[in-house]
Amino acid sequence: MEIIRTPREMQLKMKAHCTKSIGFVPTMGYLHEGHVSLLQKARKENDIVAASIFVNPLQFGPNEDFESYPRDEAHDSKLAEAAGVDYLFIPSVSSMYPHEMKTTMHMTKRTDVLCGKTRPGHFDGVVTVLTKLFNIVQPDRAYFGQKDAQQLAVIQAFVEDLNIPVEIIGSPIIRESDGLAKSSRNVYLSESERQEAPWLYKALLHGEALFKNGEKNPHKLISAVEEMIKKHTAGTIDYVEILSYPELETMQTLNERALLAVAVKFSKARLIDNLILETE
Ligand code: AMP
Repeated sequence: MEIIRTPREMQLKMKAHCTKSIGFVPTMGYLHEGHVSLLQKARKENDIVAASIFVNPLQFGPNEDFESYPRDEAHDSKLAEAAGVDYLFIPSVSSMYPHEMKTTMHMTKRTDVLCGKTRPGHFDGVVTVLTKLFNIVQPDRAYFGQKDAQQLAVIQAFVEDLNIPVEIIGSPIIRESDGLAKSSRNVYLSESERQEAPWLYKALLHGEALFKNGEKNPHKLISAVEEMIKKHTAGTIDYVEILSYPELETMQTLNERALLAVAVKFSKARLIDNLILETE
């Protein structure tokens, strides 16, 4: 595996592979089995696998955790190499943004709900850095986790809108044995919060069970999920929402594919989780 640190060098390396299929996994590092599942999928489906580790300042708000976001390059390199990555791109902020940006990207749909409500500008930052990364890596396929379901829906719309020649591939959420979705931010949880955190997934499963038993009213499902999270955790609910997927529009009744998603704030970590409610 080669580690590459500048956009120019990465772009030249990738260009040299233009006759081969390139699979790309963008990440913010502090890799765990969720990331590894994407890397392995990319390894199976492509000739060349590229991954990036870049904590993108553009997608963090002023009071968010950009500075304290966990970083561990040595650990990440080991995991990436073991998963079969050929090129690991680790640019510095100054190499990605050498001068003030004179171009902005702005998403007009799928961003005023869920995490977009409390993180204004977040998805604009995501699509801006992806535009840069896609131009640098020039991948045939790019891999994203269903863990960030809204991000996946936004990226699908962005790639379709702009005819970006990359296939976006979604991949299932990887969980701890007790159901907690793996996340780089789980290290921020205190011991007692870590014990409570699996209740997010349990509450989602409870909502899904009610849905499968015939409950089609989104408000009733939302209340049931909220109640379970409030009862079993000390976290503050940021949202529990049900929206059509991937359009992310409000639904009065659950008559099409829907996303049931939660975000809960603990003392130092804000956790998100979701599942898809499929209609037959
Ligand atoms: P991040 O490093 O948090 O930006 O995540 C990089 C990619 O890994 C994103 O596409 C995430 O959706 C994905 N990812 C993060 N956690 C998981 C997980 N538990 N299961 C599957 N994919 C994940």
